Formats: sequence, C-alpha cells, structure tokens
Amino acid sequence: MIGSPEEDVAKALAALPPLRDEIAAEGLRADKALGQNFLLDLNLLARIVRSIPLAPGDRVYEVGPGPGGLTRALLMAGAEVIAVERDARALPILQRLSAASGGRLKIVHGDALEVDPEALAGEGAHIAANLPYNIGTLLLTGWLTQARWLPWWRSATLMFQKEVAERIAAPPGSSAYGRLSVLAQWRCDVRIEMLLPARAFTPPPKVDSAVVRLVPRQPDIPVPVKLLEKVTAAAFGQRRKMLRQSLKGLPDALQALERLGIDPTRRAETLTVRDFASVAQVLAEDPAYS
Ligand code: SAM
Repeated sequence: MIGSPEEDVAKALAALPPLRDEIAAEGLRADKALGQNFLLDLNLLARIVRSIPLAPGDRVYEVGPGPGGLTRALLMAGAEVIAVERDARALPILQRLSAASGGRLKIVHGDALEVDPEALAGEGAHIAANLPYNIGTLLLTGWLTQARWLPWWRSATLMFQKEVAERIAAPPGSSAYGRLSVLAQWRCDVRIEMLLPARAFTPPPKVDSAVVRLVPRQPDIPVPVKLLEKVTAAAFGQRRKMLRQSLKGLPDALQALERLGIDPTRRAETLTVRDFASVAQVLAEDPAYS
C-alpha cells in the first residue's frame, strides 16, 4: 500500500532514533552558557504542542531547537517549522529531522537576538520555544514592544523559569506583578498552561519551569508602547515607594494621576493594567511627551 505524503512524513518522523541516542551520537553535551536544558519526553512535548492554537500547515517560529524534541512534536502536529539554533553541534541532528520532515523544517544557524523573525517566519506564524534562560525575557520583551500591533506573530507558547512565567501572568497586588506583567497583559491574553518540575529536563536546571501562552489582541486602551514603558519603568523602579515619589521624575505624571482619580499614595503594584495605560494615555496628549 502506498501512503499519502503526510503518512510517509509521519512514519519517517516516528522512525527517527530516540532523542537520547541522537544526543549521544553527536556528543551534544549540554552547554550551560547556551542555557541548554533539554526536554526529551515526547509525550510531554506533545502536550506542550497541544496548548498551541495550531492548525495543520500553520507556520511556527522556534527559538533554540537544540536536539529537536519540541521541533519533532511540532512537525508531528502538522506544522511547518522555521527554527533558529545557535549551537552548530545540534545542526546534524536537526538536518536529519529536516530530511524526515519532507521539507517542513527550515533550520537557520544563528543568534535569535540578531535574526529578523518576521522575515524568516512571515505574517501569522506562531512562536514556540523552550527558551534559553539567559535571553528569554529579552526576546519576549522584543516581541511585545513592536510598534505595529497586532504583530506578525499569532500566538507565543514559551517555556520560562517558573518565576518569570509568574511575573508575566501576575495579577495586580501580587509580589510578582511588575513591568513585564503590565506589558504582556496590556497587549495579550496570557495564561500559564503547564508547570514542569526541574527533573523533567536533561540536565535538570536549578529551578522549576512553566509554559506560558500569549495571544496578541488589541489593547483596551491603545497608547504608544514606549510611553507605557516609561510609566511602568518609573513606577516599578521604586516599587516600594508611593506613586507620588516614584513618578516625580516624569513630567506631569502626578497631574495625570489626579485627573484620573488615582490616589498618589498608592504603590505601583496596586494599579491595574488599565490604570497604567490610562496614565500613559493622559501623558500622550501632553506636549512634554510629543
Ligand atoms: N528546544 C530544545 C528542548 O526543548 O529540548 C532545547 C531547549 S534549551 C533550553 C535552549 C536552546 O536554545 C539550546 O539548544 C541553545 O543552544 C539554544 N540557544 C541559546 N542561545 C541561543 C540564541 N541566542 N539563539 C538561538 N538559539 C539559542
């Protein structure tokens, strides 16, 4: 019996050697400097992929495929994957995976902080990554602060240290609530999809991890992102201080609070995302910020 091309690809992917064997064959010893903690459990990887709002044939931009566990799960779910990996040692494994994928995996050898993901993956791609810890927040902030919104990416499903995931999803009033929470929740629906203990990784990192899913949407209060960031940077820069102190250096910010009826003796962490966006909205009309 001759199978369909999709069935042939599924068979070729299923016939690949176990990830552990691939890692051993290439001597891919985890490099701490590259944030390498691999996920090798295909069931777990399939679960992560199920939390992506993915339709067959959708494109996915993956940062740091490493030995390609998440990549395999994405390909098995029918996605086309554009993966950027910095470590040349992983390339032979990824090339074998690409051959098995029937052309659905494109590998880019490079630094995710330097490539243009929009040019590589195109409009409407999803982002998926088990992110290297040292650059995860930097990458996310870059994806969240694009001037054009809605952005090129349709969803982002990202593994972070649990503590960073909690900061992204934190509600007002909690100790994890800060600049990243406001920025992420202002522009996206945010959800922690899954918690993973350190032992799920090879080698295990020092801390637990969590998968966060972000889906971009139009903000309730659209303001220039740079201005919102200015307000939250000032407010959370001195998070234990009252707003009348922390926002003192921002021209007219105290008048903005008064106009909005926000008590200046409150602290940054008690303000909602809407409150911060409202302050930025008032300042956007102010000639001092034009
Ligand atoms: N996706 C694999 C998995 O889940 O098993 C590996 C995840 S590991 C936490 C992070 C991966 O990102 C490593 O493969 C590492 O080499 C890669 N990496 C680190 N810094 C990078 C960068 N600046 N650009 C692209 N990849 C990077």
